[in-house]
Amino acid sequence: MIQQKTKQMPLHKRIALIAHDNRKEELLNWCQTHLQHLQGHQLYATGTTGKVLEKALNVEVNKLISGPLGGDQQIGARITEGLIDVMIFFWDPFEPMPHDPDVKALLRVAAVWNIPVACSRASADFLITSPFMRESYEYRVPDYEAYLAARGV
Ligand code: PGA
Repeated sequence: MIQQKTKQMPLHKRIALIAHDNRKEELLNWCQTHLQHLQGHQLYATGTTGKVLEKALNVEVNKLISGPLGGDQQIGARITEGLIDVMIFFWDPFEPMPHDPDVKALLRVAAVWNIPVACSRASADFLITSPFMRESYEYRVPDYEAYLAARGV
């Protein structure tokens, strides 16, 4: 087991929003429902999802590259760097994707760094209305220094 340390998640969260094509409408509708809850947080998204949300919601979204072109990997890299706190990822359980390995990698990295993830609308409802979204939150993440030390470097 990798050693862990505690970390403080900021009051204002950096939220990644991603939806595969068949679920973009659902994510947009979910964001409309929870616009009030999303306000005050910083939004990030893969390219196409970000464009759709920005246009319809009139909110600022930090847009990365489109998912199939590497956007999922960009989100994953930001999670690893501690720059994304929460992920809402409506992936499509009914269609294989050309970038399935990236999707798997993104979900794995999110689990490694112990960030809250919602892949269904109901779990996203629970997540966004959690009191932890409105306060600083202490959680556990891998202790990289201890990890290196355990490997003798
Ligand atoms: P998109 O990417 O927002 O550019 O459509 C989503 C994804 O497939 O990961």
